[in-house]
Amino acid sequence: MEPLAPFYAQMTSYQDIAALCQKEGLEVLGGLHPEGTEHVPEGTLTLLLLGPDEPHFWKIFQKAPEWRDGQADPMDRWSTRVITQIAQRLGGQALFPFGGPPFLPFYTWALGTGRIFTSPLQFLVHDNSGLFVSFRGALALPHKLDLPDTTRSPCIDCPKPCLTACPVEAFDGTDYDVEACKSHLRGADTAACMTEGCAARRACPLSQSFGRMAEQSAYHMKVFLR
Ligand code: SF4
Ligand code: SF4
Repeated sequence: MEPLAPFYAQMTSYQDIAALCQKEGLEVLGGLHPEGTEHVPEGTLTLLLLGPDEPHFWKIFQKAPEWRDGQADPMDRWSTRVITQIAQRLGGQALFPFGGPPFLPFYTWALGTGRIFTSPLQFLVHDNSGLFVSFRGALALPHKLDLPDTTRSPCIDCPKPCLTACPVEAFDGTDYDVEACKSHLRGADTAACMTEGCAARRACPLSQSFGRMAEQSAYHMKVFLR
């Protein structure tokens, strides 16, 4: 990867960058100082992971040219354009979870933020977006930012409704039965997963207070079934 350009001097705090991202419909999900971490550009001192800022993201995205042009992969193309522009303003580099193989280790990076954890489903759970956590990209920055305090896994004191919400018991605590899930979605869909999003993800109290629009979840389910 290319070495990073000098840092944009006026944008030196995590909070400033979070505010900049929020204007574009993105939330900084967490950050880490990736010393010794593989697959980050040389010179990276802070890595920030970005996901949709709900409920604003969907409305912003629907106005974007990538959504309106009818071409393939609108969300990935939107993410590439917007996050690359943000990274350039910050003198950093944009990284993305799509476009592979090979794929960058967003799962490992996420665990390194101290704000994202492995849930009982083995999917990631975030301290704000719950099981609706998703990544649109990351900012690799050549400046060591102070990061917010880490949090404790929300699953520790939770009765774990996510484990029992799937109508076809696709989760057994270790594996995810993708074929059972897809078969149900193509058939009865008794838990309205196609129109409202995965019932197991929706069962998480954090997901419920996150504000993701059902229309957006329905879009992701259609992409998942393709
Ligand atoms: S429902 Fe509870 S156990 Fe399941 S992911 Fe959410 S917080 Fe964790
Ligand atoms: S989408 Fe529905 S069927 Fe598939 S895992 Fe989630 S709850 Fe189960």
